[in-house]
This record gives sequence, C-alpha cells and structure tokens, in this order.
Amino acid sequence: MLKMEHVSKIYKGGKKAVDDMNIEIERGEFVAFIGTSGSGKTTALRMINRMIEPTKGTITIDGQDLSKKNPVSLRRSIGYVIQQIGLMPHMTIRENITLVPRLLKWSKEKKDQTAEKLIELVNLPQNYLDLYPVQLSGGQQQRIGVLRALAANQDLILMDEPFGALDPITRDTLQDLIKDLQQRLGKTVIFVTHDMDEAIKLADRICIMHNGKVIQFDTPDNILSHPANDFVREFIGSHRLIQEKPSAKIVDDVMITPVTISLEKSIDDAIRTMVKKRVDTLFVVDGQNHLKGLIDVEGLTAARHKTNSVSDAMEKEIFYVKNGTKLQDSVRRILKRNLKNIPVVDDEHRLLGLVTRANIVDIVYDTIWGDEDESQSNQQQEQ
Ligand code: ADP
Ligand code: MG
Repeated sequence: MLKMEHVSKIYKGGKKAVDDMNIEIERGEFVAFIGTSGSGKTTALRMINRMIEPTKGTITIDGQDLSKKNPVSLRRSIGYVIQQIGLMPHMTIRENITLVPRLLKWSKEKKDQTAEKLIELVNLPQNYLDLYPVQLSGGQQQRIGVLRALAANQDLILMDEPFGALDPITRDTLQDLIKDLQQRLGKTVIFVTHDMDEAIKLADRICIMHNGKVIQFDTPDNILSHPANDFVREFIGSHRLIQEKPSAKIVDDVMITPVTISLEKSIDDAIRTMVKKRVDTLFVVDGQNHLKGLIDVEGLTAARHKTNSVSDAMEKEIFYVKNGTKLQDSVRRILKRNLKNIPVVDDEHRLLGLVTRANIVDIVYDTIWGDEDESQSNQQQEQ
C-alpha cells in the first residue's frame, strides 16, 4: 500500500534527519517506528502526509506518487493523532470528532451519525458529545483524539507517540482500544513510539531507526529472536530477547476455566460463590457470557456498605487478551503490570478462559528458562 524509496530529509546545514529510507507497508498492517529521540521517526511519519517534504526519494500510496498529489486533500485523506491530544478547547467533543468531515463538507446528518457511532466504539456515553475537552479526563480526551483520526473513515492513520503522556493503566487501555479498532475496521496504522513494550504489543512489524537510518524492519518475533546487530540487541534489552527455544504456545493452550458471576447477582451471592469455589476474584458476565468486569475480595469489602449489586461494585476497566495471543506476550504483560491473572476473550468479547500468574510461572519455567531438573528443584523449594 505504502512505499518509501530512497527517501531522505536533509535540513539546512546538512543534518540528515532521515537517511535513505526504504520500506514497504501492506494494507491493514500495524507498523511501529521506534528509535531513540532524534532518530528521525517524526520526520519519517510527517513526510507521509506531506507535512514535511522529502529532500530526496519517492513515497507512493497504492502506486501514486504523493509529490504529485494536492497536499491539503492528501492530509485530509490520512488520519493523524499526535502526542498532546490536540483537541480544540473551544469546540465540543462532537465538533472535535467531526473536524475533518466538516472540512470535507459532509452533511450535518452524516456527521452526527458518525460522531454517535464512534463514541459508542470507545464506551463513552452519548451526552459526552456535547461536552468540552476540559470536562474530560486526559485518557478520555485521548480516546477522542483517536476517534477524530477515524472519523473521516481514512484507511491510513499516522500516530506520533499518542499515548506518551498518559499513566500506565490508561495507556494500556488505549493500546487495547487502538489495536482492536485497527483490526475491526481494517485500518493501516503507522505508530511512532520509543517504548519497546508498546511496539511489541501493538505492531505486526517494527521499524527500528537510528540516526535517520532503518536498522531493522521485521516482525516482533523475528527482531526478538534475530536482532540485526548489537544496536538492536541493546535497544530491545536482554530481558526481552527470545531464548533459543521460543515458546510458540498461545494462551488457549494453558487457560483454565474462570469462576464467573452474572451481572444481575447481588454481592451476597458473590461472597457465597467465592467461598464455595475458593477463589478471590470473580469475572462478571452477561447472559451471553460477554465479559463485563471483575470483582475481587478487596472490591467487595469496599463496595459492600454502598451497594448490594455486583454490576455496581464491579471493576469495569480490566486487562484482557484475545484468544490466539502468544503466551510470551501475556507473560510479559502479567509480569510487567504485576497482574494476578488475565482473562482471555474472543472477538465478541466473550469470556473463554483465564491465564493465572501461577500457571504462567509454571510454563515459564518449563519452556523458557528451566529444564526438567531445575523446575523440579524449584517446586521442592517451595514445598
Ligand atoms: P524523533 O521523532 O525520532 O525524535 P525527529 O524526526 O523529530 O526525531 O528529528 C530527527 C533529527 O532531525 C533530529 O536530530 C532533529 O534535531 C532534526 N530536526 C528535526 N526537525 C528539524 C528542523 N526543522 N531543522 C533542523 N533539524 C531538524
Ligand atoms: Mg518525534
């Protein structure tokens, strides 16, 4: 879909911000540009929508040379999300979301429909459309920033460190959101980041840049198992390198059956279920087994004098993985976030199973670090 051939950007004084970049990106791919500060990521990204003109080389989209297109209409045909959200403070959320459709002169009806449909996608209430950005939290504002990039239904979306300024939980939630939207809507995304975990989590392919040059452009697995050189090795960090025997297992291979409770149950029911099943966490589902939230002992204790309803007391923003996710990724997330467990859902968000920290530790010993003897002696020590 997108092709960059011998693309360079040389600033006055000879500074090569991007130096002979050659990459090809397929339709529907999620590509991360990653590198240290000053490596040329932003420059590379902005040449794609012609906010910066290349000094040399050609960029084509579907075979069409961008330098021959009108830059303004090109820019409107490509979604763009930046670091500091960039919502207009004097415009309502509705007006912010439909900024580009307005420039494209869509009818009011079509704009309103789009805004209403989009806000639903990110689980925010319809009445937020008439609020102003300051009335929303930072994370909510950034969701709107993501929506704005989707509003004109562009196929290609550029994102420049969009979640850099957010706290880790909000960031993780928004990463899930953007990945989910990208897959569901079949968008091509180019995402600039300097966070390797973010790149590994989101990207189909990662483009590692240094001093304006592309050092390696490959899938996360290939980069982790076959780093191109010492620079890449150092950049990704030894703790992430995949050892000789990479685990090809997916979460489906190891998940267990979670204990669930349905939405309309009471807190007393929840406590009874926990005691009976001897668990400290229940997953809350609706009649079709869609994962709606979770409730744990601490949450129950805190909510108990306020409500007797599971749906009021449950925690709604929870981490999850899709079925088919590689175990390596889930291990990384569980260990990094210090999660007790992580639910596995299907494309319709139905709860399929649960990967627990305890069963992950077993698997990590078995397949990544330890051999038989070692894991046995570890078990003995624990006893
Ligand atoms: P990144 O996004 O990876 O941090 P940039 O693409 O912003 O890097 O910048 C790449 C290099 O080009 C940096 O060394 C930066 O200082 C330089 N640079 C960026 N913009 C300009 C400019 N307008 N004039 C001169 N040098 C620039
Ligand atoms: Mg930058």
